[in-house]
Amino acid sequence: MQHQKLKQLGGVLLLSAAMSLSAQAQEKKANVVVIGTGGTIAGAGASSVNTAAYQSAVVPVDKIIAAVPEVSKIANVRGEQIFQIGSESFNDERLLKLGKRVSELLKQNDVDGIVITHGTDTIEETAYFLNLTLKSDKPVVVVGSMRPGTALGADGALNLYDAVLVAASKDAAGKGTLVVMNDEIHSGRDVTKTNSFKVETFRSPYGPLGYVVEGKLMFYRLPARPHTTQTEFDIDKINSLPRVDVVYNYGNVSRAAYDAFVTAGAKAIIHDGTGNGSVAEQIVPVLQEVRSKGVQVVRATRTGSGVVIRNGEQPDDKFDWVVTDDQNAQKARILTALALTKTNDSKELQKILWKY
Ligand code: ASP
Repeated sequence: MQHQKLKQLGGVLLLSAAMSLSAQAQEKKANVVVIGTGGTIAGAGASSVNTAAYQSAVVPVDKIIAAVPEVSKIANVRGEQIFQIGSESFNDERLLKLGKRVSELLKQNDVDGIVITHGTDTIEETAYFLNLTLKSDKPVVVVGSMRPGTALGADGALNLYDAVLVAASKDAAGKGTLVVMNDEIHSGRDVTKTNSFKVETFRSPYGPLGYVVEGKLMFYRLPARPHTTQTEFDIDKINSLPRVDVVYNYGNVSRAAYDAFVTAGAKAIIHDGTGNGSVAEQIVPVLQEVRSKGVQVVRATRTGSGVVIRNGEQPDDKFDWVVTDDQNAQKARILTALALTKTNDSKELQKILWKY
């Protein structure tokens, strides 16, 4: 009798221990908000063989999440639609609106991480902007896909799953804004799109920070440059960005684009030069003129990687021009615009371009 009672009691204890364990597991699930902005990850094609010809930005974010029920096993996920656009249509206003909303969510105790579904064309600009302006250590992950969900070999579902996994993980905290695509975790600072249609398009000159493999995060390196909480830029305090334009260079380049941008009110021009930010002989006086009008001149390289050497190709000290570090022109535009919210001193601008 006594023995029977003890056995029963043991059973009850075991059952309640199991119940409290599963309650703990439930409790431990991170809360992740998925913000939808559009792009191919929200795209649909007319047939399963349309991998590159399709309509982007048509599927609502809740439907994208519902199509990957596996994510609910790793996090409590809810969707929020902020835009439904191709990322080529991102502008400064949208960037600020997105950044402010992300910042608002990050301040909530019931939000542990954020995923932003985004077109791949300008992921690198949005990710760099957030990496420089958010004031939180919580993981923020930007994700996209190269193929719409309707395509054979669609990459969006796994990319979303991996992105939620990273956003829900404490291991991803304090590493800046991340881009997760094609099994890889990249720093928002370094990553760039390098191919127009392949799924392995995202590359960082120094390699990814890590991988996501079968539900596991594997980090191998850390971002070396200051980001998020370590920068002087605060999304909550920025309400507009100064106009910064990019002029791509090539043989036979003329002054037309420089003049047009100055007339349009540019506060800085990124000279996306050949080689080491070189300046064609007919453009040297144009850039001097641009600078004499108070517009900052930033020399970048169109080569796709490498640093631009100050006073190398051109006497930057003499002309009062500045150079990029290793940022490509589109990233230099983001950083220069942010820098100009703080200073219009070319020496300070140069320090900022070298710092971030
Ligand atoms: N044009 C699309 C976009 O950036 C391409 C993509 O998402 O892959 O929104």
